[in-house]
Amino acid sequence: MSPEEFRRQGHAVVDWIADYHSRVESFPVLSRVQPGEIRSQLPPGAPEQGEAFDQILGDIERVILPGITHWQSPNFYAYFPANASGPAILGDLVSSGLGVQGMLWSTSPACTELETHVLDWLVPMLGLPEKFLSTSSGGGVIQDTASSASLCALLAARERTTQFVSNRKGCDGRLVAYCSTQTHSSIEKAMKIAGMGSDDLRHIEVDKNFAMRPEALARHVERDIKAGLIPCFVCATVGTTSSNAIDPVREIARICRDHNLWLHVDSAMSGTAALCPEFRFINDGVEFADSYTFNPHKWMFTNFDCNCFYVADRKHLIQTLSILPEYLRNQGTESGAVIDYRDWHIQLGRRFRSLKLWFVIRYYGIEGLRHHIREHVRLAQQFVAWVRDDSRFELAAPAQLNLVCFRLRSGDHANQLLMDRLNRSGDLYLTHTKLDGKFTLRLCVGQTNTQARHVERAWQRIQQETGKLGNS
Ligand SMILES: *Cc1c(COP(=O)(O)O)cnc(C)c1O
Repeated sequence: MSPEEFRRQGHAVVDWIADYHSRVESFPVLSRVQPGEIRSQLPPGAPEQGEAFDQILGDIERVILPGITHWQSPNFYAYFPANASGPAILGDLVSSGLGVQGMLWSTSPACTELETHVLDWLVPMLGLPEKFLSTSSGGGVIQDTASSASLCALLAARERTTQFVSNRKGCDGRLVAYCSTQTHSSIEKAMKIAGMGSDDLRHIEVDKNFAMRPEALARHVERDIKAGLIPCFVCATVGTTSSNAIDPVREIARICRDHNLWLHVDSAMSGTAALCPEFRFINDGVEFADSYTFNPHKWMFTNFDCNCFYVADRKHLIQTLSILPEYLRNQGTESGAVIDYRDWHIQLGRRFRSLKLWFVIRYYGIEGLRHHIREHVRLAQQFVAWVRDDSRFELAAPAQLNLVCFRLRSGDHANQLLMDRLNRSGDLYLTHTKLDGKFTLRLCVGQTNTQARHVERAWQRIQQETGKLGNS
């Protein structure tokens, strides 16, 4: 494809994306296709001869679009958001255009230095501790997902605890780690991958607000030590996936300090709220964490994938993950004056992902970002008030930020029916969890373009369908 053809087709693609965003509300939010429906429209084998670009783009509209669940619809309230924005998409496009592989500082100095710089910007933006700055003992890195970041934290904890012996000899089977019953499943997966075994992850009980009970944590740790085991890692969550519960990080940190355990804080979605000083209470105690992670690709208008991972002391992470085969040796690395991010995560190669984050932060400014976060929280709180005022419903967990967990009082079956009917209508999309053993609906306000009218309409539709349930 010549630069001239690229220019022409590129304009067509950008037009298509802009049109998509302007009509995204007209599609059913949850895709309606049946399993196999998309594949059945694709030729069984790859084309022998090249095809016209117009034809390829046409198939996006014809074949692909029906199989899309519209995460960028303002009526998307499911899971946690994966929101995006114009500047983020364009930043990603520039990253593709440059086509850089930034595994080492020397393979594109700007890729490393912009990333370090933007991650340093975020530390005061979010009120995070200064030890996470690259100019102190720690530093930040962009990873693909919170799952990968938490795996890296667990590996570094494992190595710090065993004086880096596990890296050479493997685990001796006595290492144990702790999270709560509400912790994201990525920690269990990390235990499997790290060779520590999911049986050696203790799921600590939670209180009535679904936050970890620190006294239960202390009890489990002491029991394990008595049994000859070696506790090494605790994951505290700020904003659990199920109900947005906030673990008491400060009290958990005290236990971690007493027993020299690595404290990792997972704030995948809610971390973004700390842009606003009034929500910074969520960071209470984070100054004691050994590592911290949050996803700009959830709630910070930066399209997937973009996770930020910070460590308080980078040497543990680097010593855990560093490798230096002959073919990667270079003067920059030898000088010791540069960061080589290949030593900060699992994979070697890496994209220039800081560009999209840089575009987002510069385009909105901190005040612009705060404006949208505040608006999402305000709309979620408005929804909370409506639920409170309707005696058919109850709130299932405290809603401190942008996630509302609620349910009909009339039982699991009614809630399941209500959710299925709403989602099938295509007017909105929400998902569920189980809290206290009960089927609970989750409504998370976090899509970039969700406005008051969308949340009002969502509540109207919920009320309508609830009314019909009563009659059926
Ligand atoms: C979404 C979520 C994750 C997983 O995020 P990925 O980036 O998809 O790996 C981890 N922890 C929490 C608390 C989450 O909400």
